[in-house]
Amino acid sequence: MKKIVAILEIVHYTKKKTTRFLIQRIQLTMILAYNCKLGANSSQEIIMTSWLSMLRSHYNFCLRDRIEAYEQVKFPKLGNYSVLKTKAPCCPLTCSISPQSQLGEPFKKSGKKRNAYEMQSSELPFLKQARPWYKKIHSTVLQQNLRRLKTAFENFFDGRGYPKFKTRQRFKSFSYPPNQVKLKSNKIYLPSIGWMRFFKSRNIPDGFQLKTVTVREKADGWYVSIRIENKNIPQLKPKDLEQVKTAIGCDLGIKKLLALSNGELINNPQFEKRLSKRKTIRQRRASRKKRGSSNQKKAYARLARLDQKIVNQREDYQWKTAHHLVRLADVIVLEDLNIQGMIRKCRAKQDENGKFLKNGQSAKRALNRLIRDCSWGNLTEKIESVAAKFGSICLKVNPKFTSQKCSHCGHIQKENRNKERFLCLNCGFFSDADVQASVNIGIKGLKTLGISQSNLLRVPQKVTPKPEATGSRNREKSVSLEVEPGNPQQLSLFEWRNGEAILHSESPVTAT
Ligand SMILES: [Zn+2]
Repeated sequence: MKKIVAILEIVHYTKKKTTRFLIQRIQLTMILAYNCKLGANSSQEIIMTSWLSMLRSHYNFCLRDRIEAYEQVKFPKLGNYSVLKTKAPCCPLTCSISPQSQLGEPFKKSGKKRNAYEMQSSELPFLKQARPWYKKIHSTVLQQNLRRLKTAFENFFDGRGYPKFKTRQRFKSFSYPPNQVKLKSNKIYLPSIGWMRFFKSRNIPDGFQLKTVTVREKADGWYVSIRIENKNIPQLKPKDLEQVKTAIGCDLGIKKLLALSNGELINNPQFEKRLSKRKTIRQRRASRKKRGSSNQKKAYARLARLDQKIVNQREDYQWKTAHHLVRLADVIVLEDLNIQGMIRKCRAKQDENGKFLKNGQSAKRALNRLIRDCSWGNLTEKIESVAAKFGSICLKVNPKFTSQKCSHCGHIQKENRNKERFLCLNCGFFSDADVQASVNIGIKGLKTLGISQSNLLRVPQKVTPKPEATGSRNREKSVSLEVEPGNPQQLSLFEWRNGEAILHSESPVTAT
């Protein structure tokens, strides 16, 4: 639990989707992030908790200000000024709300216009006068809080979600800007909070500068995330196409987390499902306690610790899987899945009288839960970041028709695939459906890179030990599937269990 997880962040990552750009992407400096558990004493914990609550209300207050300003200019037909409730235009002379922000002074001393962040930042001294308890918070932390709001709006303008008001559960961290926090052996100095111990199970490399430091509350205590940068060490460049010797295609799945194009199957330990019984018990216990009592609080804390455990186990497994893949090949080709679309709710069905009919959502709910448990998005992110760290090429391709297409003759037909088996109706090629899909993904990826040799996909198996889930009781062995191509009789001869081919006991074994 107290393990440090090093996260390599891809910096200067271009948003352009073209693969050419992806390969030529040059990262200027090495930026690393270290997550460590803090050993804060109880008085320091009280300070940090009170900071969180104050910062949250400050965030929400400023968010409301910015939303009001934004809503006014959202309707261009109405002009820059309008009444919020009726959306009717109103005269700027009588309107008390300025178009950008209500808080702060809109102009600098030099006469230049401030942006929304600068305006709200200029309001901070007045906030401290009106509410003196805000003086206890370090001033840079308050500014970082406003920056966080600014980022939320920038994300929204980039097409991501509308900024939300933060509940207590969703506001768990605050951060210091660069050059504020000090480190000394296994102690860390957080301004206005003091020196405290942290669990330093990995040495922070020399020559790195401290960047943003974020303090985060989790179910089992306080954590600190330290970003460090070294401008002298350039990030490893991705390999040139001439250097590429091996490639691997990956098909994401539920039963098997990954099927690789070399026939390897990576198990999905289903961490959430494994602990689901214990979770249900803890949820029930907590809900039956007296509302608002300290016993209920304790019960919910216990539940949260279990959730944390599930997340930790999954993260650990995903890092191991990512490293395994990167060790395996120079090029990793992944699917570009629309996960949000896959777990979207079914549309409501109604008859003529307006009565709601069954739409299959209840059956889909279980599947959605399984998909969430896989956490494919996080896994792909980790694979990408580990690949960037070691200079491997990682790219995503559209998975369209990859599970229906025959990798031998290129014949596409829906009937080629029957659950976990793949049998080409044109040439008779037979294989495991997921492995077959991963081969197609690999070929597609190589094509986008401009490499024509698909023999690069023949990566030998078991180069490195496979990732194993910590604490799993019955570790499944994944067996490579040596299936003769073009032998449809194997379909009836073998039964497939957990990716293993098992001989049918009833069916007669005949040589073909
Ligand atoms: Zn075929």
